[in-house]
Amino acid sequence: MTDKILIVGAGFAGAVHARVLAEAGYDVQVIDKRPHIAGNAYDYTDANGIRVHAYGPHLFHSKSRNVIDWVSRFGVFTPYAHKVRALLPGGAHVPLPVNLDTVNAVFGTGFETEAQVQAHLATLALPIAAPANAAEYLHANIGTVLTDLFFRPYTQKMWGLALEEMAVAVVKRIPLRFDRRDTYFADDEIQLLPRDGYTALFERIFDHPNISVSLSTGFEKPMLEGQDFCFNAMPIDEYFGFALGELPYRSLRFHHETVIGLPTRGWSVTNFTDKGRFTRETCWHVLPHHLEQNTGRHTRTREEPCDYRDNDMERYYPVKTADDRYAALYERYKALAGAETKIQFIGRCGTYQYLDMDQIINQSLLSAQRFLARVG
Ligand SMILES: Cc1cc2nc3c(=O)[nH]c(=O)nc-3n(C[C@H](O)[C@H](O)[C@H](O)COP(=O)(O)OP(=O)(O)OC[C@H]3O[C@@H](n4cnc5c(N)ncnc54)[C@H](O)[C@@H]3O)c2cc1C
Repeated sequence: MTDKILIVGAGFAGAVHARVLAEAGYDVQVIDKRPHIAGNAYDYTDANGIRVHAYGPHLFHSKSRNVIDWVSRFGVFTPYAHKVRALLPGGAHVPLPVNLDTVNAVFGTGFETEAQVQAHLATLALPIAAPANAAEYLHANIGTVLTDLFFRPYTQKMWGLALEEMAVAVVKRIPLRFDRRDTYFADDEIQLLPRDGYTALFERIFDHPNISVSLSTGFEKPMLEGQDFCFNAMPIDEYFGFALGELPYRSLRFHHETVIGLPTRGWSVTNFTDKGRFTRETCWHVLPHHLEQNTGRHTRTREEPCDYRDNDMERYYPVKTADDRYAALYERYKALAGAETKIQFIGRCGTYQYLDMDQIINQSLLSAQRFLARVG
């Protein structure tokens, strides 16, 4: 019977594995190289009395009742419909994803129905039957004007790549709407935020007598000695000493700024359509429970994308190119990992995929349950 488990990474992937296995009676040790728990979902209250997400705004959304039920065991969640606006060159803020009002603002039209918007976009769409990259997908659906305004500069800043070099999947994540719906995520998703923040949620997940957590502790191979199994959320290429080459990531530098006053407005995140260095800005106090103390000031955070090598190897987004070359490299690392009998790679960097929190939780619940079914 396996009883000692090492978990590398105190983000959602590691935390879910830790809790499920601890509840099944395993002795679980969690390590993280950072000085805090919660991985990229980590949040804190700053000197302005504002709750800030250290690694960019994390909005919880899911179609899975199972996932919501599981996380709700560890905290109260508040319903929250996330809205994003794009700042146009003329200074107007328009809904994003593109909807009927966005189309009217850009083209100066006065459409009132979905059919009118669809008919207009059909006149702009280019006849591309099988789009091979993100640019072709957008041109085939909304034409060049909206593509060049909302997607081209943003993608270039975000990824350091032209739309033509990006996979269709990167832009397909963002819905295209022809009506007036202006919430960011799809209607069939449950959208929530943890009332007391993500860090408090993780404290409760780790609060189990069978779990111990060591922070500021990087993984080293000798740590595997004496362990019966290891779930490892570290970058898979790093574990293998980059033997096959690097799996690259896009990173972000966060620029926090104190602003006097607490303006009320109906959205928290603004995307910039210009060619400057920043992709978006978050005004945290607009999110429920993020104005923890009224100091008369608020915090806004701008994101500046960069290569992860230029940001202390902070890995945020796996790079998905149109030719899938890095996905192919990851498959070769995965084959190497297949020969390891006592390690399973998990999470965003262990499996080199961008996954939302609910997807990571879902995968981790299934993975821990599969492990229990296998070894008991
Ligand atoms: C800017 C940004 C915004 C996002 N917004 C959203 C959102 O709105 N909604 C949503 O659902 N998802 C969002 N996500 C995705 C979300 O962050 C991930 O789904 C989630 O963090 C994945 O959890 P994880 O445990 O796989 O990885 P992580 O949270 O990254 O945790 C992995 C942990 O492993 C640790 N680690 C790595 N290497 C080592 C090592 N060698 N030794 C010890 N520890 C190590 C790291 O320090 C880290 O704490 C966003 C991600 C980013 C980058």
